[in-house]
Amino acid sequence: MSVTVHLNLVDGEWVDGERRSNGNPARPGEIVSEYAVADRDTARAAIDAARRAQPGWASQPVGSRMAVLDDIGTTILRRTEELAVLLSREEGKLLSEARGEVSRAGQTFRYYAHQLLQPQGEVYSSTRPGVHAEVRRRPLGVIGIITPWNYPLAIPAWKVAPALAYGNAVVLKPAELVTASAGELARIIAGSALPPGVFNLVMGAGRVVGEELLTSAGIDGVSFTGGTGTGGHVARQCLAHGNKRFQLEMGGKNPLVVLDDADLEVAVRCALDGSFFSTGQRCTASSRLIVQAGIHDRFVDALAAAAGALRVGDPLDPRSELGPVVSPEQLAQNLDYVRIGRDEGARVVAGGTHQPDEGQFMRPTLFAGARNDMRLAREEIFGPVSCVIEVDDLDEAISVAGDTDYGLSAGIVTTSLSAAERFKRDARAGIVSVNLPTAGTELHLPFGGTGASNHGPREQGGYARDFYSVPVTCYTGW
Ligand code: NAD
Repeated sequence: MSVTVHLNLVDGEWVDGERRSNGNPARPGEIVSEYAVADRDTARAAIDAARRAQPGWASQPVGSRMAVLDDIGTTILRRTEELAVLLSREEGKLLSEARGEVSRAGQTFRYYAHQLLQPQGEVYSSTRPGVHAEVRRRPLGVIGIITPWNYPLAIPAWKVAPALAYGNAVVLKPAELVTASAGELARIIAGSALPPGVFNLVMGAGRVVGEELLTSAGIDGVSFTGGTGTGGHVARQCLAHGNKRFQLEMGGKNPLVVLDDADLEVAVRCALDGSFFSTGQRCTASSRLIVQAGIHDRFVDALAAAAGALRVGDPLDPRSELGPVVSPEQLAQNLDYVRIGRDEGARVVAGGTHQPDEGQFMRPTLFAGARNDMRLAREEIFGPVSCVIEVDDLDEAISVAGDTDYGLSAGIVTTSLSAAERFKRDARAGIVSVNLPTAGTELHLPFGGTGASNHGPREQGGYARDFYSVPVTCYTGW
């Protein structure tokens, strides 16, 4: 297969730099793409270009902004197959999952094109005679966007699209492992009628290019998705450098509760999908399965059998049900957690090993006999590793589910309406699912968590406007 080369995009020009390559996690030695590493000067030039371009873009008529966003979305959708193959080769997710992600990215641009037709302000009655009171929105300005590797196209899309829609300019810094998808997105945007400088791409290390976005006076806000540790650093830097606005979407240790009255088949399906699909590399993955005693043994046996039967292999092979782990470092970390879980006294009932093939494949791994105070149950692993914690009743399940630093997504499998309602009310998470996997969200609904999973306004849907625009309260007397 061919190797694509991606350059940085600054003020509408392609800017070269030291070249690096990214490989295919399923096929050792196969290079997927090359990219030009941006240095601090390139990042500064991108920020300057964005500053110059932003006012002109914000003052374009809504119809023009809509047309640009709609065109970008349509182009992404038209190129779904080709972009999905590239995404699958560079990140390792199944081709079917990659197609879904590309489609999500395209739909997201089209969604925000149409969001611009929604009301953009509010009118209030003033308590003073002869005064008109209204709230308008103005763009935040220049946004630094920093993204992780696990959704190489969808996460950039769900940040870039609303940023542009609401009249901002953007400097995108994607994760180093997935520069090809970001590079293709940049090519598509560069081919649209978006004025030069409104969207810029800079690729490279977080501590160089990312750091420039956090510390530059030319950036008004940073939208970040990644690990909780990195997110804390982003927050501190944004506060220290100009009190920038920031939005953080971070890790998870998401619980799926299974009650005695659950339909076993539904429970196994939700746990299998939530724990292992996308190789468990989802911030919304179910990594703690909190199971009531009466169904516990049947559930563990059925899930272990289903996990053991999953076909792990090349993501481009339609027979594969699980792709590789993204990098050797991530695989080593996953296997380390298998050792930690065993040392803590939990029992491996499925997987637990590196699949002895070529590539970075790992068997889906299920632990039984876990306790919620184990590292296995407290720390985000970000791989195909899940653990079962046995509980007596709904009260204990809710308490264990909420006993975590994180709070992104929580699910319950039950046939009891009252248990479901109670869980929706009491689960400490930003996303709650009933009889559905904890991973699986829709682009027009708000996305985000609580605790160590999130800081700042929600992403996606109409809620995205809260980060990408600033309310301005206007009083007019006559
Ligand atoms: P990461 O924190 O290592 O990196 C995320 C991004 O931050 C990358 O682009 C990286 O280069 C950049 N970065 C690193 N150091 C930086 C610095 N000093 N300054 C500025 N930028 C810096 O995360 P990752 O390994 O790419 O992704 C996995 C993590 O992302 C997991 O914790 C996962 O839960 C989380 N995630 C969260 C969500 C969500 O919406 N909540 C979605 C996907 C992934």
